[in-house]
Amino acid sequence: MRIARFAIGDTVAYGIVESAGDSIADSDPEIARIRPIRGMPFGGELEPAETTFPLPTVRFLPPVLPSKIVGIGKNYLAHAQELGAYAPEEPLMFLKPNTTVVGPGASIVLPSISERVDFEGELAVVIGALCRNVAVEDADMVIGGYTCANDVTARDLQMRDTQWTRAKGFDTFAPLGPWIETTLDTTQAQIQTSVNGEVRQAAAVADLVFGIPQIIAHVSAVMTLLPGDVILTGTPAGIGPLQDQDEVSVTVTGIGTLSNDVRLGD
Ligand code: MG
Repeated sequence: MRIARFAIGDTVAYGIVESAGDSIADSDPEIARIRPIRGMPFGGELEPAETTFPLPTVRFLPPVLPSKIVGIGKNYLAHAQELGAYAPEEPLMFLKPNTTVVGPGASIVLPSISERVDFEGELAVVIGALCRNVAVEDADMVIGGYTCANDVTARDLQMRDTQWTRAKGFDTFAPLGPWIETTLDTTQAQIQTSVNGEVRQAAAVADLVFGIPQIIAHVSAVMTLLPGDVILTGTPAGIGPLQDQDEVSVTVTGIGTLSNDVRLGD
């Protein structure tokens, strides 16, 4: 099931996406609909409305507003190697502020103080329940769903600083979407990032160094996770810079495609 967050007029709601294609743009405007639900999509039975709206009549928002975004670094071996590093011995965590989040179709804004801003296509896990100290074998129970993410990174600032807060923390540096897919076979899912239609990253999610249950156990041993919190599972090899006017798309098979354009900031 696909759950999106959307606006129509002055109303903002979550809704179930019905009969859509693999992206908002690829959906047939004649048949694709969104059915609002009452309240939040986490922690209980959904209460779908009787009415639906045609997909083209609503504005898609970030599918979730996390209290925090936890990133996992160097979690595909080939990517660690392209950075000249080894895969870490345990999951390497960092935080992105929730003000980095933008939705599908929103612009990634290049800050003028960076000369190299990279895309990092990633599978994002959306936490569905308040949890702490989750055991590896219980991790599935706290997953609310999955979405596509771009862990946008100011690479020059990441190399210059000894930690990553600035490099990972600019506004618009965490596009998420287009929707939350509540079920995903991560053993089969493929991730692909394209810039202006050219494939730049392609990998199997199964190639993660630390799998999703291990990541959830590791992170939740440190901090309480809240419904809607997002964990970025890491990016495959093939990272590269974004330029003004680029269009960058992250596709995870079984979820769909997140697309964002790029523009210069102040
Ligand atoms: Mg990353």
